[in-house]
Amino acid sequence: MGFSDGTTLSKSFALNTFQNGATMARKSYIPGDFDLRVGRSKTGLGLYAESEIPKGACVIEYVGPELTKEQEEKSNSKYLFEVHSRKTIDGTVRWNKARYINHSCRANCEPNIHKGRVFIHALRKIKPGEELNYDYGKNYFNEYLKDICACPKCEAKRAAAKSGKKPTATKVAQNKAKAAKKKKTAKKAGAAARK
Ligand SMILES: [Zn+2]
Repeated sequence: MGFSDGTTLSKSFALNTFQNGATMARKSYIPGDFDLRVGRSKTGLGLYAESEIPKGACVIEYVGPELTKEQEEKSNSKYLFEVHSRKTIDGTVRWNKARYINHSCRANCEPNIHKGRVFIHALRKIKPGEELNYDYGKNYFNEYLKDICACPKCEAKRAAAKSGKKPTATKVAQNKAKAAKKKKTAKKAGAAARK
């Protein structure tokens, strides 16, 4: 053994540096030309990748009109996205395909704010047919999703709790009603976006 192969070592080190440099290339804020499809998901509709999306790619922009504070307070939209404390956009509009992206606690995408706009980037390579999702943030989750989140992590957790504690049907119904009521003033992903 020994270090007779020092050259190999430094060569592979250089290669690693190069590879890291390549993956850590500056984020693009121009959505790629990916085939995305709106389709049935566990919780209604969702957005699916039709072609492969590479890790780190800019997938889509979350678009919609900017609301005034007054409009925001009156709004019943489920698709409010708080860009920052003074800017909220309403993603309800039909041309905002990104509104179909559901929450997951183990998301494959994440929202990023760039110059007051919201872009969704892939956190890992996404295969054709996979549903896109991002983490809506702790506040949103605790308020609206805790009891109804259909991601594999939460379903497993709930199943485990069920086999142990067995929450009653009424309790689940109550929680669902609570969540539905709260949805009225739902504000999406503010916390996640500010991360
Ligand atoms: Zn979850």
